[in-house]
Amino acid sequence: KASVMTGVSSGSDWLARYSSSLMGVFGTPQRVLVRGAGALVWDADGKEYLDLLGGIAVNALGHAHPFVTSVIASQLATLGHVSNFFTSPTQIALAEKLLALTNAPAGSKVFFANSGTEANEAAFKLARRNSSDTRTKIIALEGAFHGRTMGALALTAKEAYRAPFEPLPGGVVHIPFGDIEALRAAVDENTAAVFLEPIQGEAGVRPLSVEYLQAAREATTAAGALLVLDEVQTGIGRTGKWLASEDAGIVPDAVTLAKGLGGGFPVGALITFGEPTSSLLTAGQHGTTFGGNPVATAAALATLHAIENQGVLENVLRVGAHLQAGLSDVDAVTEVRGEGLLIGFDLDADIAPAMVTAALDAGFIINSPGPHTIRLAPPLILTTEQADRFLDALPGIIKAAAAQNAAAQNAAPLNAKDA
Ligand code: PMP
Repeated sequence: KASVMTGVSSGSDWLARYSSSLMGVFGTPQRVLVRGAGALVWDADGKEYLDLLGGIAVNALGHAHPFVTSVIASQLATLGHVSNFFTSPTQIALAEKLLALTNAPAGSKVFFANSGTEANEAAFKLARRNSSDTRTKIIALEGAFHGRTMGALALTAKEAYRAPFEPLPGGVVHIPFGDIEALRAAVDENTAAVFLEPIQGEAGVRPLSVEYLQAAREATTAAGALLVLDEVQTGIGRTGKWLASEDAGIVPDAVTLAKGLGGGFPVGALITFGEPTSSLLTAGQHGTTFGGNPVATAAALATLHAIENQGVLENVLRVGAHLQAGLSDVDAVTEVRGEGLLIGFDLDADIAPAMVTAALDAGFIINSPGPHTIRLAPPLILTTEQADRFLDALPGIIKAAAAQNAAAQNAAPLNAKDA
């Protein structure tokens, strides 16, 4: 079998090479992964893991999904990349599909990017074009994560990410999470846009209420501001719906997507709803070489097709409810949040980073967005049996983490980073 790798190494050998050749912005990797199938992955030492993180809400259909894999391979063998002076059938078909799935009204449009950050960066520029001479304010929420390029970082709230890079693009104000009165007070005729995650993923899976989303729609409409929903983490079936914001029954001005959209292949999208929003960015005002390339858009089309035709949304609701109910029954768990297979749960002590390590030892991949919070965002094809395997192991993982914390008082957080 052809390989671009030189020789086979153990996990620890690879990690030694990693640390001398990679920038390490995510710290030391937990494992070196070499293969995946469905909700399972294997590391360089042959150990198997149940992947309950799915590349952080990315692997919608699990790893190496046969249909998605074959569509990517055949598209690559047919037409791999063209410049954006051209288009291709998959790009057009994917745009049409996304507009149909999001019930977009006439005049709605799509811009393709390569990541969630890039989709939000485009949305930031869209917002700047909303009466750019008069509207200087952009509103985002405390706890928000929208990415880490300079524009997206200006929207992201976390001070530790922002501080080293000031000055960031100006005009962004962060208001308290979920506070409808604070939102109404902040949105005024000087406001270009409001950016919201229907469920804040990086902040520990914190849902906004339907009432909040509706109030945001009312306030932005009244003020002439855009309502931009960042569904990068929550969209494409993650909550058992195409968009997490569906229940609010509102039409936003823009939605950003990425993560699960490509089923593991990098693709991001900004959807603008109706006019005049869809004409705010005009020819020459934005672009990217790889955005909307044939392979990425074919991967996304295949992913959407499989989600639609293989009962995936129903599975998310069923297995998600089962998993959430099971988590609620665990003694040390004080709160379970989320929808479908985007789940956060809190522990009664600051053992979450140690739990990530203990879970790896036990053969499970989980994530801790905070000292007492665990996030699960598994492949949407997770089975009840696989969920039960984790639920059965959880008390042991909690016990091991508590013991590890007691043994090493100063255990450093191993997995408290955002993706
Ligand atoms: N927005 C949200 C809500 C996210 O969760 C993330 C990733 N964690 C991003 C944007 C950034 O996406 P990406 O990492 O694909 O650039």
